[in-house]
Amino acid sequence: MKINKIMAATLALSLGFAQTLTAERYDVQFESYPVYSGTDLELMVGKGYTQFKLWSPAASAARVNLYDDGRVGKPYETVPMTFDKSAGVWKAQVKGELYGKFYTFQIEKDGRWLDETPGVWAKTVGVNGKRAAIIDLKTTDPEGWNYDKRPEVKNFSDVIVYEMHHRDMSVDPSSGIVNKGKFLALTETGTVSPQGFSTGIDHLKELGVTHVHILPSYDYNSVDEANLDRPQYNWGYDPQNYNVPEGSYSTNPADPATRVREMKEMVKALHNAGIGVIMDVVYNHTAENDGSNFELTAPGYYHRHWDDGRYSDASGCGNETASERKQMQDFIVNSVKYWAKEYHIDGFRFDLMAIHDTETMNRVAKELKEIDPGIFVYGEGWTAGDSPLPVERRALKENVSKMQNVAVFSDDLRDAVKGHYSDATDRGFATGKPGLEETVKIGIVAATAHPQVDYSKGANSRKPYAVSPQQVVNYVSCHDDLMLTDKLRKSMPEATDSIRMRAARLAQAIVFTSQGTPFMFAGEEIFRDKKGIHNSYKSPDSINAIDWNLKARNIDQFKYYQGLIDLRKKTDAFRMTTAEDIAKNLRFEKIDDTRQPNLIYYTLTGDPKWKEIRVVLNGANNSQTVKVPSGNWTVLAYDDVIYPEGAPEKIKGGKVSVPGISAMIIAR
Ligand code: CA
Repeated sequence: MKINKIMAATLALSLGFAQTLTAERYDVQFESYPVYSGTDLELMVGKGYTQFKLWSPAASAARVNLYDDGRVGKPYETVPMTFDKSAGVWKAQVKGELYGKFYTFQIEKDGRWLDETPGVWAKTVGVNGKRAAIIDLKTTDPEGWNYDKRPEVKNFSDVIVYEMHHRDMSVDPSSGIVNKGKFLALTETGTVSPQGFSTGIDHLKELGVTHVHILPSYDYNSVDEANLDRPQYNWGYDPQNYNVPEGSYSTNPADPATRVREMKEMVKALHNAGIGVIMDVVYNHTAENDGSNFELTAPGYYHRHWDDGRYSDASGCGNETASERKQMQDFIVNSVKYWAKEYHIDGFRFDLMAIHDTETMNRVAKELKEIDPGIFVYGEGWTAGDSPLPVERRALKENVSKMQNVAVFSDDLRDAVKGHYSDATDRGFATGKPGLEETVKIGIVAATAHPQVDYSKGANSRKPYAVSPQQVVNYVSCHDDLMLTDKLRKSMPEATDSIRMRAARLAQAIVFTSQGTPFMFAGEEIFRDKKGIHNSYKSPDSINAIDWNLKARNIDQFKYYQGLIDLRKKTDAFRMTTAEDIAKNLRFEKIDDTRQPNLIYYTLTGDPKWKEIRVVLNGANNSQTVKVPSGNWTVLAYDDVIYPEGAPEKIKGGKVSVPGISAMIIAR
């Protein structure tokens, strides 16, 4: 049946009926496109010549426009391209190494020249990314770049992720940082808040996270790079040029080399501090539909459509890309490899990952692993709408068992600990709502099969979906939805901030002691808020910026987070690497759950440092009592303090009281 459709499509094409094809046939037509897997696509500068190659199998003509300027003026030359039908590639070669010049492509389709595009493989661009630039990338390497080393990652359960936006982190005057809102902000050491507390990269070192996860930092569409003195803000989930850093984060977006060099300097500074860099990547959709670089390069091919020809929209942003098509799959794989090699990026967080197919994600993980086995790949195991891609092929949370080296966010733990994301006032386990204990346990065992976890009681998932704890990222808050402080204020209206801070500590104590990879959102360690705004993607700095004055005010909160991270690093039992280990070494203790709601009590064994560790999580307002075997126990966490080295005084076994809204961790 398939072959007949291809034949019909090819026949219709040859008769010039392409525009009348139905979407289904339209789709089939793409399967007949030749795939070009060479790595010299679009631009290559050789000795004495500059070569352009554009993959566009259905164009009737193609040309390159050459410019002196990255934004204004007419082309100084337009060069026609010739077609290599077997590869689907248009080619032009001009004399000279055109460093310092800019170019765009244009293709002709159905007798009409489409708008200019920098192509899909531009690696440097002029301001606002409309024209690709020709520079020698070697000149952008910071000093010592060849010796730059990514932090070693043995297991992904050792990774501690800190999600941040460049502007949030540094733009407030209280940051004491010079390069506010720029890549370079994270290269500045010795910066302090007005009260003398460290900010920026020093703050990250002090906190102890192993990786920063930077919100989209490829070139996105929404911020006008030519008018940066005008107040502008965006998260950046509107991709324009996938292989170029965003210009507004550079000190000079008009100079194509600056953003590249400055992003590398940021990576190098973080690597020198022992911190890895994870990039948030959004290959799932483009900012524009017909005006996207994908569409202007190979119309129809890179996006999915419904049968009636409309763009399908699993991203909720107007379109979705088609990773199941070979050239698109290659694009994603080669793009992350490019970031890993050229920018030494240590991990990739895939936005709406389930828009991609599992085969593509497996190729991504496999080929990155060949560069460095410590490169971490994880994503959102869901879509934001329906997709023509069959459910069984989607890189869904539920399909993560088909993706050995890919991790997914656990919405189970997230919603169970603090209350459902979609209902601001809903409470969770840590804020006194009973009945969510089993779902929290799903998070604690990193969604692996465990003899004591009854998945039929799970609020979000009804079966163990992870094969390994290295496939699950646990969190209670991120850039999306109400951040933790705001969620606690809305769901605990009667409480004081000091009670809410206890709830935040308990919530994070659950995240940082659970199996899997812990993940936190920037600024929560100093109890920052976003003034109750849940979707602050284009809100001003007054909503999004971190106020570093809070660090002095909430220093005990910071110390708790810092202690949790330290404790996790020092305790192997919180970082088990296989599902078998978890099933064997994590045992839930009996409690009377009808009389003791919001109480979880478990024992960990197999840690080289301790014979056993006992973790008690009490989300109730009142203190609750648990039975502890007799003997002397070292206290690692009690009430609202963490003791990574153990508290000076030991406690005795027997009946032990755990204060309301707190975690107790003891070991012997
Ligand atoms: Ca941009």
